Amino acid sequence: MKRLFTFIFVVISVLNLMAQEYNPQVESMIEEVNLDSLKMFVRNLTGEDSVRVNGEMVRIEHRVDSWGNDLAAEYVQQVLEEYGLEPTVQNYSTNGTNVFAVQEGTLYPDQYYMICAHYDAVDYYCADDNASGSAAVLEAARILTPIDFEYSIIYALWDQEEIGLVGSNYYAQQAASNGDDILSVINMDMIAWDNDEDMVAEIHTNSATNTQELADYIMAIDDIYDLATNPVIQNPGTTASDHSRFWNQGYAAVLMIEEYYGGDFNPYYHTENDRISIFNLPYFHEMAKLSIGSIVSLASPVGFGTGIDQLLANGGVSLNNYPNPFSGQTTISIELAKDDDLQLVLMSSQGAVINKLVNGPKTAGKHEFTLNADELPNGIYFLIGTTQQGSQTRKLIIQ
Ligand SMILES: [Zn+2]
Repeated sequence: MKRLFTFIFVVISVLNLMAQEYNPQVESMIEEVNLDSLKMFVRNLTGEDSVRVNGEMVRIEHRVDSWGNDLAAEYVQQVLEEYGLEPTVQNYSTNGTNVFAVQEGTLYPDQYYMICAHYDAVDYYCADDNASGSAAVLEAARILTPIDFEYSIIYALWDQEEIGLVGSNYYAQQAASNGDDILSVINMDMIAWDNDEDMVAEIHTNSATNTQELADYIMAIDDIYDLATNPVIQNPGTTASDHSRFWNQGYAAVLMIEEYYGGDFNPYYHTENDRISIFNLPYFHEMAKLSIGSIVSLASPVGFGTGIDQLLANGGVSLNNYPNPFSGQTTISIELAKDDDLQLVLMSSQGAVINKLVNGPKTAGKHEFTLNADELPNGIYFLIGTTQQGSQTRKLIIQ
């Protein structure tokens, strides 16, 4: 039994890493990555601005572990809680404190995609290293938590990276000894410096299982969603950040970083002059989009539910179909919050319109009809319902 299950898990994880088509839901979530929000997290984490933590206005003066960086840990914990997560504060030693939270997947709750960064630092400010990566983890939580995903997502912020990758090492060892099925790890460390404005995003990989495939997947995200970053794979990549502790345990992991090997490295690195004022903000924004878009696509967003709140939140329209996947025909049900104009379009996975199924006024409530797909090739399709309030997308699989 044990062998059989291992085999099945491996097949599923490899398949999901390969299956990659344009998905309008992924695109809309990439568009939600907000530069003002990213800047706010960086300014709070680097003490440029004061912020309310545990009910009191405070300034995070630094994040240096040996000077005591508990306030930064409390801040990231609080942000994750604000987005409805239940973070674990992992005190693995006297000073060492990781903060992470799991968003449970609907189909594969025991399989995880991780987005992570270290929050500790070596001096005052240290905005690029690594409030930038930490901010992108918090921004991911902001955008992803309202949505259901097929796979579980782990948001993690490591401590003591700067004194030897201590926090991530502890976590990765524990995960491996528990047999945790972490399918991919995206680690962001220094994602905001681009002085030569070439938009190069380095993806550091090595030979650990599925790591090269993960890097290729991120390259494809950049391409499919037409991001402004220019990703370059570095293999063998550096071991000088937290992802390497996951490599050591055999997990697929990459480092997303500015031009570390390419010769445009932040000259203010590890000094108190590493402040948000030296960021290339458009670059920072695109780097966050690339990493967050990759996690969204990997974890596979599922169609929204039919709760009334979700119905209203999604343009007043809710889509469902049964069976799905299907061959031949499926029954599509549409629910409208109020009388409205409805457009219902079937799109291919490449974004081409196959058929306009509905185009005109519909009454509030539930409507059902049968979609006959006998003449369509097998594959993934999207059903997109649009009202005057907004739209909702559902993934259809014809097999
Ligand atoms: Zn760093």
